[in-house]
Amino acid sequence: MNYIVFDLEWNQGMNEEIEDDLKFEIIELAAIKLNADLDIIDEFRQVVRPVIYKKLHPIIKDLTGFSEKELKKGISFEECISKFLEWIGTEEYRFCTWATQDLYELQKNMNHYGMNLVKKPPLYYYDIQKLFSIMCENGKDRRSLKYAVDFLKIDKEVPFHRAYGDAYYTALVMKEIEFEKVKSNFSIDTYLIPKNKDEEIYVKFDRYDKFISMGYENREKLMGQRYIRRMYCNLCNRRLWTKLDWFSDGMRSYYYLGKCRKHGYIKGKIRIRKNHSNKIFAIKTIKNIGQNEVEEIKIKKNNKK
Ligand SMILES: [Zn+2]
Repeated sequence: MNYIVFDLEWNQGMNEEIEDDLKFEIIELAAIKLNADLDIIDEFRQVVRPVIYKKLHPIIKDLTGFSEKELKKGISFEECISKFLEWIGTEEYRFCTWATQDLYELQKNMNHYGMNLVKKPPLYYYDIQKLFSIMCENGKDRRSLKYAVDFLKIDKEVPFHRAYGDAYYTALVMKEIEFEKVKSNFSIDTYLIPKNKDEEIYVKFDRYDKFISMGYENREKLMGQRYIRRMYCNLCNRRLWTKLDWFSDGMRSYYYLGKCRKHGYIKGKIRIRKNHSNKIFAIKTIKNIGQNEVEEIKIKKNNKK
């Protein structure tokens, strides 16, 4: 198994010229290929010539240090992607990125040119920002790549905010955090969501279960599905005694509290999300929890009254 650690830089329009289909246009793609032992075995870097937003947004110019002249020398996005896919090779691999946005934007840009990264979900990948938090902090906070590099005392030999540097540091962070110990915590990309019930995704992690639904027209239809609301104990699959039935937090999440006669309290959470084609889908997690989290749910419920 290889790991393809990649990073993107993108440009965006000034207010007057935003193309609604593509808000961020990729201008650079770089990647580091690691083998199963996390040794660097190859690297890829490519500047992409923008065709939608040819003028660099001042913020992007500042952040990346790119000039328009440099971008003009780049190759087309389509050519970059075919080179990238060829470079990835035929060996089994997983993508790794810092945070979740790069994989999304890569697919969004590919979609603009009629290309797909995968034919159908699930696309599993590693979010190294999340793994850093699990290994070095509380698992919930999300830090900048620079913070992680400083925290792990990694030498800063190449610039940040350029695709190559960010991919390179992300690869070094993977090595430093003892990736092997956290690799069961993979992420599931939701750029492509299940087309139908057969494609829906059920994953059992050590501490919780995750479910990703197909898309529905609207939230009412989605939450009206009995199978989406269905709850069970993630440790023994027993039916639960419902303590608080599904309630909305008034924003994009729903909560549920139940009790398993063997394992105690079980929390359900449904996050309502909209995909790029405006379909509404659910990400449901089911987790055995302790008294503190029970109180948190009760407070949420009371705040709604
Ligand atoms: Zn149980």
